[in-house]
Amino acid sequence: MVDMSSNFDSVNEARKGTYWQPFTSNRLLRADPEPRMLTKAEGIYYTSINGTRLLDTLSGLWCTPLGHAHPRIAEAVKTQVETLDFAPSFQMTHPGAISLAERIAEMAPEGMNHVFFANSGSESVDTALKVALGFHRIKGEGNRFRMIGRERGYHGVGFGGMSVGGIVSNRKMFAPCMMPGVDHLRHPYEPEYAAFSHGQPTWGAERAEDLQRLVALHDASTIAAVIVEPVQGSTGVLVPPVGYLERLREICTQNGILLIFDEVITGFGRMGAPFAAQRFGVKPDIITFAKAVTNGVVPMGGVIVTDEIYNTFMTGPESAIEFCHGYTYSGHPLAAAVGHVVLDIMESEDIFARVRALEPVLEEEVHGLKDLPCVSDIRNIGLTAAVDMKPIEGKPGARWSAVFEEGLRQGLLLRCTGDTVSFGPPFVASEQELRGMIASFRKVLEAVG
Ligand code: PMP
Repeated sequence: MVDMSSNFDSVNEARKGTYWQPFTSNRLLRADPEPRMLTKAEGIYYTSINGTRLLDTLSGLWCTPLGHAHPRIAEAVKTQVETLDFAPSFQMTHPGAISLAERIAEMAPEGMNHVFFANSGSESVDTALKVALGFHRIKGEGNRFRMIGRERGYHGVGFGGMSVGGIVSNRKMFAPCMMPGVDHLRHPYEPEYAAFSHGQPTWGAERAEDLQRLVALHDASTIAAVIVEPVQGSTGVLVPPVGYLERLREICTQNGILLIFDEVITGFGRMGAPFAAQRFGVKPDIITFAKAVTNGVVPMGGVIVTDEIYNTFMTGPESAIEFCHGYTYSGHPLAAAVGHVVLDIMESEDIFARVRALEPVLEEEVHGLKDLPCVSDIRNIGLTAAVDMKPIEGKPGARWSAVFEEGLRQGLLLRCTGDTVSFGPPFVASEQELRGMIASFRKVLEAVG
């Protein structure tokens, strides 16, 4: 249990900064008179340290779609710890990892039958990049070393993921140490496109031609892979225009380039299908996943690869280990057990159908905010949505703080980045709860103007 005893003053301890928090303005937080701490979670609600109930508008960090404190997951954790709490992942395994890989492969697009486990989205992305490099090298095309990412892409914080990612603030402190040979596509969203798209926009697909430019610039024979999030999540739900992903696929196929879909957010149901690949009808060569596979309860991630990629490794030059890569906790028994029960729940409750049924509700509600004078654009797809706010004059990107604080007052835990608020509610939220969430958010926007 967390130490909540009267002799542990967590508020004052937090102010000391012994715990250096990730992706957080630590200085601001330490000075905050209101402690920002959560102490309990159940269903779609958190409870903060001062007892306020907060609706979980982003499913944790896009990772708890089945809600919190699920009794079947709690039971699975307990049973697994008592049965097999750890198994070495090198030259040894356990049945749970194998059977989970099989279930994931069954959910994946046809011909993607091989799963390599990692523990986070960042590790999954770095694994995918290494698979791509290894694949070409085994085929005698070791000159294919370049990676193409995308502006505004987020692929985690490993050196590989950071390099192919396109978020300036995540890169600038480490700039000289990026992975070599990386270039970026332009992202398919421009402020002038801001047109309150419902689902996939019908404009902007021509941005896929940008890949032709990079192929011509670098020569196809030097490019290993293109990596994109099918829907850019962390930078504000940027939805692929109709035809965009299809065109990327075409150009990759024509040039022997692997296409990687980073499905850390979109995988396991958020698009109303197992993966975005199926929602958009475009099959990549590699899919990365994490987050929802274990409902955020135990860290897990991984990559799914095509038979061609796997077989290339398995039939390549004889070597003791075909792919010198892996983690102590790859396919961890606890994560595998939770993964199984998550997939059981998703199947037995027909969760993807539920997401498809809730999508129009979220769409209707969120676009109902269009009349507010501070709103500049709204986008949605699957069970995701984002609302852009007009920047405060002279202070672009400064909206988040006031909106976040007002959200807490209105009973919402909001995900605010710059002038954008993103929504990724739990799949188990009811229609009523989704409508209530947006109604409370309207009050937030009215209060901050
Ligand atoms: N890829 C994508 C698309 C993500 O959204 C994220 C996290 N939001 C990551 C990678 C990194 O995942 P993690 O934080 O688990 O390393």
